[in-house]
Amino acid sequence: LKSLLNDPSLLEARAYIGGQFVDGEGTFDVTNPARGDVIAQVADTSRAQVAGAIAQADAAQKEWAKWTGKERANVLRNWYDLMMENQEDLAVILTAEMGKPLAESRGEIAYGASFIEFFAEEAKRIYGETIPGHQRDKRITVLKQPIGVAASITPWNFPNAMITRKAGPALAAGCSFIARPAAETPLSAIVLAVLADRAGIPAGVFSVVPSSRASDIGKEFCENDAVRKLTFTGSTEVGRILLRQAADTVMKCSMELGGNAPFIVFDDADLDAAVEGAIMCKFRNNGQTCVCANRIYVQSGVYDAFAEKLKAAVEKMNVGDGLKDGIHFGPLINMEAVEKVQEHIADATSKGGEVILGGNPSELGGSFFQPTIVKGATQNMAFATDETFGPLAPLFKFEDEDEVIAMANDTIFGLASYFYAKDLSRVYKVAEALEYGIVGVNTGIISTEVAPFGGVKQSGLGREGSHHGIEDYLEMKYICMSV
Ligand code: ADP
Repeated sequence: LKSLLNDPSLLEARAYIGGQFVDGEGTFDVTNPARGDVIAQVADTSRAQVAGAIAQADAAQKEWAKWTGKERANVLRNWYDLMMENQEDLAVILTAEMGKPLAESRGEIAYGASFIEFFAEEAKRIYGETIPGHQRDKRITVLKQPIGVAASITPWNFPNAMITRKAGPALAAGCSFIARPAAETPLSAIVLAVLADRAGIPAGVFSVVPSSRASDIGKEFCENDAVRKLTFTGSTEVGRILLRQAADTVMKCSMELGGNAPFIVFDDADLDAAVEGAIMCKFRNNGQTCVCANRIYVQSGVYDAFAEKLKAAVEKMNVGDGLKDGIHFGPLINMEAVEKVQEHIADATSKGGEVILGGNPSELGGSFFQPTIVKGATQNMAFATDETFGPLAPLFKFEDEDEVIAMANDTIFGLASYFYAKDLSRVYKVAEALEYGIVGVNTGIISTEVAPFGGVKQSGLGREGSHHGIEDYLEMKYICMSV
């Protein structure tokens, strides 16, 4: 992997604690999912080391919070610039450990860096408030202050952006930040530490603690009094565990959890645009995102036409090693991911679904899988309630608006939703009726640093991105003064 980088010194496999790169207690292997070979042996940080990292982060935060917003903004801006200067290398590292096509990795690096840029700017705009007093002698001021040490646990599907979306607002607010990346993708997190170091972010303000012992680290984060904020992206199942654990210390939590996004195509939609949107939304990252369309609902009048167009477009796309040119689908992250896609296909076909494209592991072997389209999907099939997290597009048929809104909302999740339509009153009505934190109208791509990303129902707590995103890392203090 080093030989593929312009700057091989970016490839670091140690933890970053208190401004130093340090060994863990042993190492764990990181593999390339396209080839299955071990590409790095990464420091396996122990719980005791994480406790030490928290103590250092706590001490560093006290100083960091004294910096002016502009001073914090300047080093964050340096960090952003370094990420973009090294975009290609960061993308290669990301693809090597995670598998997504290089073009998507470049996009993720730019997207991830944009959160650092955006929140660097916001660091200067953390405004408080004055409130007219409730008595003649009273003056009321509201201060916004950093919460303290923030700890994150993140997944492998966006190894860069899931960290920067949290670290950007945390550092801008004056919090210190400790990242425990997914064990599949620690290199993309550690390289952020290499660049943080070069950018002049003070020791202890940003730390990375790779570890194969996720539950130990999660416990330390939740039980350690010095940690004041836990921010998690991952499954609803693990989110519930962490919320329970965090209850004992009454820790503030942000949770970006699972989704089960509906993608609705009404009969007045621009079908070509809907097909293009569905492809980006369903198949980006090989279907491994929490905002991926999981259920595609198509109105009966355009159902067959949409299915044909979608099939024709997906057929032209290529499966292969993400480091090679012209690849649209990399491997899935591991064999369990393949098994889940297969289970969902088998469940669907046993209940009357018809595979019109793909349906099998790719002839490339490993965790490569054919992009798959299933017609005749119904609400009793597994993917109607469970996120597939793979390249499987199930097409459900519906007759009218009320029916599809009820089906779309029939889930415990409420992260992203999408629909294609032209009738203006329909657009408003459906956008308002969807019980989701995010609604894409005539677009399949909704992620941006300038908008508040987050879910309702069991998809999570809090918002990431936009000026709202920094609030999750701030406490309000109200000062009541008698004059
Ligand atoms: P995904 O399906 O995306 O892997 P998970 O919720 O399983 O979603 O994992 C998200 C992150 O949470 C990963 O970094 C994983 O290692 C971590 N994790 C899993 N179980 C626990 C736990 N009990 N405590 C803390 N972190 C956990």
